Amino acid sequence: MSVTSLKIGSIKIVGLRDGYFCLDGGAMFGVVPKVLWAKFFPADDQNRIRLGLNSLLIQTATANILVETGIGDSLSDKHQKYYSLEREPDLLANLEAVGIKPEDIDFVINTHLHFDHCGGNTQRVGENKYLPTFPRAKYIIQRGEYNYALAPSLRDKVSYLEMTFKPLAEQGNLQLVEGRYFVTPEVEVIPVPGHTRHHQCVKVQKGGQVLFFLGDLVPTRAHVGLSYVMSYDLYPLETITNKQEIFEKGIEEDWIFAFNHDPDYYFGKIYKENQRFHFRPL
Ligand SMILES: [Zn+2]
Repeated sequence: MSVTSLKIGSIKIVGLRDGYFCLDGGAMFGVVPKVLWAKFFPADDQNRIRLGLNSLLIQTATANILVETGIGDSLSDKHQKYYSLEREPDLLANLEAVGIKPEDIDFVINTHLHFDHCGGNTQRVGENKYLPTFPRAKYIIQRGEYNYALAPSLRDKVSYLEMTFKPLAEQGNLQLVEGRYFVTPEVEVIPVPGHTRHHQCVKVQKGGQVLFFLGDLVPTRAHVGLSYVMSYDLYPLETITNKQEIFEKGIEEDWIFAFNHDPDYYFGKIYKENQRFHFRPL
């Protein structure tokens, strides 16, 4: 059984998910051949692998912070089938199970605005009408990512769904930030480009301990190797250099890493052996 919650100093961190979905295994591993990646995640009969829609609940003395909101209500029935989406229990049910109601969330952080990270930002409340799921929350998003989401390229247009972010602005829940930003004294968002230009990671620091949420920089434990980079990444060379730099620092300072799409592990550590990075569960 993998660890689902831990403490960073006095801060409680809980791994939760909005279920699972499936993506093409080849697209998830870029130039890495299937004989290598299939050792980590065997493909189904459509060559897809099953991924987690992982979130973190960060509970400081003053705030409840939710990192990522899964897919939520954002997909049509057709697309739910296409991705073999499984959402029982979903993120809201999992939050309720740890005693958290939507109105208890003070901040939501999205690493970027692809629908599998921010789909649960809003809820359908009527025909084509969506409202913020977490009514009191400020949603912390990089300004560059928000602007890009309003006018994405043809290559990644399908990943941006307006109803997952536009209602935040309309209802006054949107808090755009530029660059590194402290959400609370212990929780910082840090731009780490590669997957998108303005993708951000989350660093939690307290009592000499650090937890680092990788977002789509390193989506699963199978992506720890430097060349294991998703074809979805817009700037794959930046993914590689940023991953290397962050892992080196994390090893030096004994950080705990949190994974956004690993179906089995929320948390783990990274170590280096024979010039290669490896994953170790907690
Ligand atoms: Zn993703």
